[in-house]
Amino acid sequence: METIFYDVLNNITLLMSAFYLIGKMSPHPITTESKRSTRILYGIFLSIVSILLMQMTIEPAPGILVDLRHIPVIVAAYFVGPLPTFIVTATIVIYRFSVNTNFAAYAACVFILCIAFGTSYIVRKMPVYSKRTFMTVTLYATTIHMIILGIVLWDTGVLVETLAVIIPASFISCWLTLLISRDIRLTKQTVQSLRQRTQIDFLTGLHNFHAFTNYLTDVKQSSILQEKTVTLLMIDIDFFKKVNDTYGHEAGDEVLRQFARRLEDGVGDVGYLSRNGGEEFSVLFEHSLLHQVETLAEQLRIRIETTPFTIQGRDSIPITASFGLASFKETTTHIDDLVSHADIALYHSKQNGRNQVTRFAVEQEVASTNQIS
Ligand code: GH3
Ligand code: MG
Ligand code: MG
Repeated sequence: METIFYDVLNNITLLMSAFYLIGKMSPHPITTESKRSTRILYGIFLSIVSILLMQMTIEPAPGILVDLRHIPVIVAAYFVGPLPTFIVTATIVIYRFSVNTNFAAYAACVFILCIAFGTSYIVRKMPVYSKRTFMTVTLYATTIHMIILGIVLWDTGVLVETLAVIIPASFISCWLTLLISRDIRLTKQTVQSLRQRTQIDFLTGLHNFHAFTNYLTDVKQSSILQEKTVTLLMIDIDFFKKVNDTYGHEAGDEVLRQFARRLEDGVGDVGYLSRNGGEEFSVLFEHSLLHQVETLAEQLRIRIETTPFTIQGRDSIPITASFGLASFKETTTHIDDLVSHADIALYHSKQNGRNQVTRFAVEQEVASTNQIS
């Protein structure tokens, strides 16, 4: 009896540690939407766990060997879909028939196929993370296990003592494995969404300054490896303080939101758009030439100037913005100077009367240095 208890415990321990390690395989939860190669790898890992489980048999009665090989099939079907389920099911069937091809082998294969199809069906019909789905799958798997063992061991006289061990073992291991897999997945999803939130500007929904600096660092590194044009457009709303002073801070916020939507519509997915603070925005382009970005900036400027912003459907506020452009390597030879050069160009737009687009030129750097000194 003690040996049986330790055998069950060993199986459960193996399942817990294996699924914890599998959970660590990727920083994102592996799901039906994951890359095909990831799902194949997942299926291979689960197949290894199944084979290990088939080695770690439990002997509830003399000469009767049972195991928990079906648990990885349940996890594959439950969380990651048909591809890994197929891999792990096929591995178990081939492995089982390579041992022998008696009645028990056929029954074991029917059992695994029922688990694979049944779990897939239940999960398709019910919400994945609900406790009710857990319980339904666990009860289903335990019942199928009981029926198959009943059929195979009917005449042996050891059915009752076998079921007395295997039914609780099957139930507990299935429940615990689903629980640990679910908890790891939910933790990863939470971390992922928190990480995303730290990159988003709460007012406009654009990337924030933190995201911009991270992105710029990545772009700088990749531009060292590849010959790549990187262009930075800095944008600052003109006399924005007046909007706040005249219409109130709330109205100012609404203008910032509408301004962000206009930039989004104009830029699309050709550039990385962020709000870098206050009424300052930037767009980083990785594949566009300077003259293309300049044309786009001019279109944005006109669109902002010619279509007034409306607050609560009544006040129509005219807004203009100033733009500064710098491009590696068209205006700027060192990529580390990109931000300061775009800033200098923006400063020149402001100095020259606002509501205009300026591209960086070396003379501006000299002029702005003189201005400061
Ligand atoms: P300039 O044309 O020289 O850029 O003038 P400006 O008034 O736009 O620039 P300034 O830097 O003097 O003022 C920026 C203003 O933006 C001051 C601040 O109250 C306002 N501001 C900054 N962040 C926010 C915000 O989140 N919401 C609102 N409503 N106003 C903001
Ligand atoms: Mg401003
Ligand atoms: Mg400003």
